[in-house]
Amino acid sequence: MSESAFLAVDNNPEDLAVLASALTSRYAAEYEIYTASSGTEARATLAMLSQAGRTVALLIVSREIRDQDPLFLLQQAREFFPNVRRVVSARYLDPSAFDFVTTAMRTGRTDYFLYKPCEPVVARLYPIVDDLLGALRRVRQERGFEAVRIIAERWNPRSHRIRDILERSTIPFGFYDSDSEEGRQILAKVGVDGTRLPVVCIHYGIVLVDPTNEELAVALGVKIKPDPGLYDVAIVGAGPAGLAASVYGASEGLRTVLFDRETIGGQAGTSSRIENYLGFPRGISGGELARKAFEQAWRFGVSLVFTKEATGLRSNGARIIATLSDGTEVESRTFVIATGVSYRRLEVPSLERFAEVGVFYGAAMSEAPACTGEEVVIVGAGNSAGQAAVHLSRFASRVTMVVRGESLAASMSDYLIRQIAVTPKIDVRLGTSVVDGHGDRHLEAVTVESANGKHETLRTHGLFVLVGGTPHTQWLADVMEMDSKGYILTGRDVLRSARAPNRWSLEREPYFLETSMPGVFAAGDARCRSVKRVASAVGEGATAIQLVHEYLRAG
Ligand SMILES: Cc1cc2nc3c(=O)[nH]c(=O)nc-3n(C[C@H](O)[C@H](O)[C@H](O)COP(=O)(O)OP(=O)(O)OC[C@H]3O[C@@H](n4cnc5c(N)ncnc54)[C@H](O)[C@@H]3O)c2cc1C
Repeated sequence: MSESAFLAVDNNPEDLAVLASALTSRYAAEYEIYTASSGTEARATLAMLSQAGRTVALLIVSREIRDQDPLFLLQQAREFFPNVRRVVSARYLDPSAFDFVTTAMRTGRTDYFLYKPCEPVVARLYPIVDDLLGALRRVRQERGFEAVRIIAERWNPRSHRIRDILERSTIPFGFYDSDSEEGRQILAKVGVDGTRLPVVCIHYGIVLVDPTNEELAVALGVKIKPDPGLYDVAIVGAGPAGLAASVYGASEGLRTVLFDRETIGGQAGTSSRIENYLGFPRGISGGELARKAFEQAWRFGVSLVFTKEATGLRSNGARIIATLSDGTEVESRTFVIATGVSYRRLEVPSLERFAEVGVFYGAAMSEAPACTGEEVVIVGAGNSAGQAAVHLSRFASRVTMVVRGESLAASMSDYLIRQIAVTPKIDVRLGTSVVDGHGDRHLEAVTVESANGKHETLRTHGLFVLVGGTPHTQWLADVMEMDSKGYILTGRDVLRSARAPNRWSLEREPYFLETSMPGVFAAGDARCRSVKRVASAVGEGATAIQLVHEYLRAG
């Protein structure tokens, strides 16, 4: 018997039979298919499966069921099964269905919709189910195969970093507490005593003890040194802007190298679900988007180098040279700087010692399952904080959002505000801030202060901090013009800059995305005036390559 199930709910027996038969013919090997002809029956089935310790991966509810509000049923299903994907079905071209479905999706009570009849099923049913289950199916399938096994104490910060990198690189891994029977068994099997943790076992036999990122990358077959010789374009940062630049550069015949100090995806890689990127109506996880872009770059022949940070940049005639953290130099005719931003730290000294042992900067997707049944706190009011709240509410028993301002509307997209409003587990505390942290080996509670000075201590398993960014441009401070916050100036802004040291030196004006260093372009969040979104970062990455061509043509 399969551990996981689908439940289809429809009061029309013919529609229900057609749907159940289509689901059975494609998914029965992996999922058990249940049906219910009313909301009451559906609720009883959900309760029965939950009590039996099974999971429901997919729930499809007809909007025409009469005995219960279909939206309420969809909402209840999440309480039983935090990860269930929910679909509402409606009759094709039913004029009243449109508003219903729109409301259900906007308020986050359904993940998507189906029109009945959903025929041909290969075009109108299976792609939707496959897309919705994508990440979930991979997790299930990967549970059988773990390319990497990490054995460490639950609160080992280094193990958190490694899990985070593997999660963002979409490498299937398993984590085993070194105090658990399974953890001890793995250590004994590989012949390591576990006095130094984490221990990382790669599936083909390599065992690493407390490895550096580079040692891990080498063991995973990742390139950590660029090929020698002159590149046409070198791209720093493998977030959406850098990945897009690399795909366009290599696909247009430029000798292209892309390097990142960690892995692929940048900030986007930490997003649980990007819902506003064009072409993905059912949303896509940032990791999945990054993995697809990475494969595209690889296919076009981009030289991809990871675990190397760029630490310096200089010009030498027509060549531009970057120094990497290990002293290696990369020479290229042009550069694209796509180094993005990262979250600012909370200036609360007592929280510093809990970094990665309870305090996480960014969404920390890899931590979400560990928050199952626990209380968590999120600081921030932007889209990333909203997404993290919705994602973590699937695991945690309670999510408290600590928001300094008096409303979410100023900084968060409407669709997320609505999803938060209909998620009872999320509690939004406006006009508050975190002022203290408590715990022994890991964070156990935080103190929050409200606008009237009142203090309250909240028990928490994790504090996720998503408050505004600082650009990764310090390494360029002496060589190019930036604004007062460190965002790189490009195009005409370079000419308007009041600072003298790195002023534009050529007769021609700088190209649109060109920095004050001729031949060096900036794209994405690190650029002054950029729109901080995936689509705009991708657009700027692609545009930068067009400008690289113009620069190279002009000689
Ligand atoms: C949790 C979260 C959710 C989000 N959700 C959405 C969303 O739903 N929709 C949306 O449109 N936007 C969303 N965003 C914003 C979006 O992800 C960013 O706007 C986008 O990732 C910016 O891309 P980028 O390539 O400019 O920079 P980044 O994504 O920040 O990538 C920069 C890369 O450069 C690397 N790097 C930095 N310095 C160096 C160096 N010196 N040497 C080598 N490498 C370096 C970093 O390791 C990183 O990989 C979200 C952001 C977060 C954090």
